[in-house]
Amino acid sequence: MDVNVLYNFNIEKEIDTICERVDELRGLENEVLNIKKYIKPCIYYKDMNIKSIEKDNVVLDEIEIDSAYLAKGLSGCHKITLIALSIGDELPKYSQEKYLSCELKKSSIADILGSHAVEIVIDKFHNYLVGKNLLKGVHSSLRFSPGYGDWDLRYQKNILDILKTHEDINVSSNFLLQPVKSVTAIVGWSYQIKETNYPTGYKSEICKGTNTCSNCRTWACKK
Ligand code: SF4
Repeated sequence: MDVNVLYNFNIEKEIDTICERVDELRGLENEVLNIKKYIKPCIYYKDMNIKSIEKDNVVLDEIEIDSAYLAKGLSGCHKITLIALSIGDELPKYSQEKYLSCELKKSSIADILGSHAVEIVIDKFHNYLVGKNLLKGVHSSLRFSPGYGDWDLRYQKNILDILKTHEDINVSSNFLLQPVKSVTAIVGWSYQIKETNYPTGYKSEICKGTNTCSNCRTWACKK
């Protein structure tokens, strides 16, 4: 299956109303209006078959992922969509420039806007995929990213390599995405309706607990 690339994914409506929904941006409509032009979404994605899912391992067409957390989250799925997306580097650069020139309020607004914008892009794109697959009777799993549970951050590099994102999205030696407002993720697809809660359970069942606790976004073993 081929890699698909989308530029100019439209989140204009969501950005235009963001100040009503995000407390930190309330009353800052003019500031957001001035910098929203720096948000330039790009989305890379590719469907892949699941060859097997074991207790702590998922084998896909082009990659094998060691993660008990992901294995549990994708159980019952027959395929996945691999995703890497970004809002581009212009807004983070603007934020950094303003920080360096001690215009801290402007820098902070741009940073907050960027964080929410990338979440809007991934949520809206996920919803788009959900709609497309539902027409075929296929249901979405939750969305998983490296750093969730025991899914090691080093897999960010494998995802970017598979999706050939290097013109737009890269990863540093300590596995931070560049531009910073970027995301990598997997969504699973199943003929059964999937769980609506992230996996929890005893640590040994859902997480090898090896490397990624400091990056863990679920703390599932603590729930
Ligand atoms: S906090 Fe728990 S769930 Fe998260 S990586 Fe560590 S052991 Fe795993």
